[in-house]
Amino acid sequence: MNVSTEFNSINGVLVPLIYLISATLFILGLKRMGRISTARSGNTLSAFAMFLAVIGTLLEIGFVDYRWIIGGLIIGGLIGTVAALRVRMTEMPEMVALFNGSGGAASLAVAVAVVWSRIVEQQVTSLPSEVLGVSQSVTVGLSIIIGAVTLSGSYMAYLKLQGKINKGRPILLPLRHVWTAVFTLGALALSIYFAFFAADAAQAGTIILIVAGASLVLGVLLVIPIGSGDMPVVVSLLNSYSGLAACATGFMLNNNALIISGALVGSAGIILTQIMCVAMDRSLLNVLLGGFGAQAATSGSGASDEYTSVTSSSAEEMAMVLFDSESVVFVPGYGLAVAQAQHAVRELTDLLTKKGIRVSFAIHPVAGRMPGHMNVLLAEADVPYDYLFEMEKINSEFKSTDVAILLGANDVCNPSALDDPSSPIYGMPILNVHQSRSVFIVKRSLSPGYAGIKNPLFEAENASMCYGDAKKIINEVIEEIKTLK
Ligand code: NDP
Repeated sequence: MNVSTEFNSINGVLVPLIYLISATLFILGLKRMGRISTARSGNTLSAFAMFLAVIGTLLEIGFVDYRWIIGGLIIGGLIGTVAALRVRMTEMPEMVALFNGSGGAASLAVAVAVVWSRIVEQQVTSLPSEVLGVSQSVTVGLSIIIGAVTLSGSYMAYLKLQGKINKGRPILLPLRHVWTAVFTLGALALSIYFAFFAADAAQAGTIILIVAGASLVLGVLLVIPIGSGDMPVVVSLLNSYSGLAACATGFMLNNNALIISGALVGSAGIILTQIMCVAMDRSLLNVLLGGFGAQAATSGSGASDEYTSVTSSSAEEMAMVLFDSESVVFVPGYGLAVAQAQHAVRELTDLLTKKGIRVSFAIHPVAGRMPGHMNVLLAEADVPYDYLFEMEKINSEFKSTDVAILLGANDVCNPSALDDPSSPIYGMPILNVHQSRSVFIVKRSLSPGYAGIKNPLFEAENASMCYGDAKKIINEVIEEIKTLK
């Protein structure tokens, strides 16, 4: 047995084994990410699974030019490290959008490279379905379509979240549904033509470039009608697409690890998308058809949106009410992340609990700017997990709560969602803070939240505005409570 045959036979056993271990670790990692307490180790486990998958792939391919691999590792690793270190918590959705786009770009690039290296450069005269095989020539088209849609759609999502396109508001092109249908059907039809009818290498190459171009336009068409308020749902869906693109690429390359990891990303993304739609009481179709933010933006400037009877209070008054209470519920929102007030809130929590006051945190599924935003923020400040309650669990508690404190939260407590059918957020489940005995709303002004609409809670009899940066106010409350001892 020569060295090469021996290497191949060891690989025949080793590579599937590595892929199996990698896939198992991916599943275990994903499972651990489902709980805050185990999420960090789940992430490490999944990263290790990815490392194993890369090793398995390199062994499967055999001898490759490692200069390219090492070069790619260094450049990619540097970009990832710098991005992870520099990104602010409030910019995380943008970063996720860009990373999804990179996943799509990778699938698109690999599929185009396969067509170029196996068909165009070889100047083949047979049909792609004969050169690549039927399933591979079909999955080439799918990889290109889904990869390109994910790439341009994710980049659009990034620009929208940054407010760089129409200030994040929807752009409703005339006949947009017709254009979307034309580009979708056109790309699908051409990719089938590529597989079964492309007469020669030049035609195959041209068709594949047209499919890629049409799919890039399709990604833009799909995302521009959607307002930035709905962008997290879109980012989550694009995450799922990047998984599907990877899965299609896995079929194209006959790589089991890619098929399994792609399928896991695809299904996890779609489950998260569904969870977010339920949290906003919207169907996925309603989100994807777009136009939601356009209505919200205009309603935010109307005369009826003026506030007439708002009560305000100081940190000192809040401290006194807190001092006399038995139960307090904090409602964190996007402003808590902006103010970076999580450590101050933790300190206040410690002070109150030492005094025998029951403290809880009410977590709305879309509070902040990304799923799990508030959980991550509070975990960073070591707020005990058992103080955190999801909306369904805590909503019945507000009736017996002495004080609810909104910390940079707004839309997620807007009662219009319950009683104003004309409101753009009507039907969205909210935290029932208005049922508490007293409510303090800590924010800098009466400005609206993400949905751009008035919040009648600010005028409620039991509510009081406490104007200022959340961290500054909480620190003032802490100082006041210390003097009240
Ligand atoms: P909102 O966007 O409704 O409100 C945040 C509030 O924070 C603002 O009204 C702002 O008021 C206040 N704020 C900003 N900076 C500070 C600061 N330094 N100190 C104190 N307050 C501050 O946030 P919510 O978390 O209540 O709701 C989330 C919204 O975002 C929902 O509409 C949701 O659909 C949407 N969304 C959710 C995503 C997710 O996945 N979780 C992703 C993207 C959007 P002021 O300027 O007066 O201080």
